[in-house]
Amino acid sequence: MAYTDEGRLLTRGQIDALQVQALPDLLTRADRAPAYRGKLGGLEINTPADIRKLPLTTKEELRAGMPEGFLAVPKADVVRMHYSSGTTGLATSVYHTADDVLRWSECVARGMLAAGLNRDDIFQNMMGYGLFTGGLGFHYAGELLGMMTIPASSGNTERQIHLMQSFGSTVLHIIPSYALRVLHICVGDGIDPREDFSVRAIFVGGEPHTEKIRRRIEDGFGARVYNCYGLSEMCGPGVAMECGQQDGLHVCEDHYLAEIIDPVTLEPVEPGEQGELVLTSLRREAMPLIRYRTRDITHQIVGDCPCGSAHMRVARMEGRTDDMLVVRGVNVYPMQVERALMEIDEVGNNYVIELDRPEDLDVMTVGVEVTQEAFRDEMRQLSALQDRIAARLRQELDISVKVQLHEPGGLPVSEGKAVRVIDTRDQES
Ligand code: ZN
Repeated sequence: MAYTDEGRLLTRGQIDALQVQALPDLLTRADRAPAYRGKLGGLEINTPADIRKLPLTTKEELRAGMPEGFLAVPKADVVRMHYSSGTTGLATSVYHTADDVLRWSECVARGMLAAGLNRDDIFQNMMGYGLFTGGLGFHYAGELLGMMTIPASSGNTERQIHLMQSFGSTVLHIIPSYALRVLHICVGDGIDPREDFSVRAIFVGGEPHTEKIRRRIEDGFGARVYNCYGLSEMCGPGVAMECGQQDGLHVCEDHYLAEIIDPVTLEPVEPGEQGELVLTSLRREAMPLIRYRTRDITHQIVGDCPCGSAHMRVARMEGRTDDMLVVRGVNVYPMQVERALMEIDEVGNNYVIELDRPEDLDVMTVGVEVTQEAFRDEMRQLSALQDRIAARLRQELDISVKVQLHEPGGLPVSEGKAVRVIDTRDQES
């Protein structure tokens, strides 16, 4: 029997009712975790918004509770432990029961079904396997849908290309910066991914990126690219995924209750306003989290989606509260830099932001790879391009920025999440 996802077509009324029903049970289960014990009781839940009466949970609290403070089931019921990569500090452990792993797979499978995939697809999963949740989260969903799933993991680009050619992979899951890297290597190898591969759908996640980057990946592979959002604290990928409309990510609201709050006042923002995404896991058994502050910045996309799903849509992540850089007193998100750069045709696939404080004054330098065509231009033209990029960045960021141009492939590339910011200011003060 092929897996079909009934939760995807719930109506708004059904979703609200399901969330209200799920909350009392969730609070009872969460109360078994030492970190929540005695903190959640005595609350009357009549609407999903009543969740605001509960306290928020932060990453710091998860860390303080390491290793088992948030574990809500006997250890014998745990079948899997993931360990968050800790991009912004110490890692935290996340536990799963067998049922948690299945529900997680169902969330990811929902997004794959929404993209029109089925058991005839061949799925090359190019996300890292292991403690990082990106690989295994999609792996089980691919198998649940009956696809031939190739656990390629990340890296070893020549082998990835070989797998795509030999087995006719139709679906990829990959970090966006690595997808661009693969395209770059294909060019060098004389391969045209549009002709030589059979890829039709690509799921990207793991790092923020702009719409222009999505279009570049789509053009390069001749495939549709879908955004996928998740975080290991909420299982991993599959919390929210794009449908065929590619206009915002549907949160699996029968699994996760989402709020968007002002990260400073902690009050809900108006629908459509930018704020921090806060998630409550409604069904998880091993490690239920209540009002977890993701630190991811997004906004709700208001209005009905033509795909027919009533699950709330959020915009692609627009940055992280802790990514925010303060440069000469001005708040700067790395995504703003990317958005400005990608508007310029001569800009290539990679960039890096460097921050330094040589004489007690912040200096921001943006290293930019240019396209092969632009790089062949004369010095005078390159210098004009440099000025144009600097002017565009100044307009976007409200601060002056130094620009350095690099040849294609001239900046270092990591095979995991891209390192976009090198901040050496703290070491000097
Ligand atoms: Zn939709």
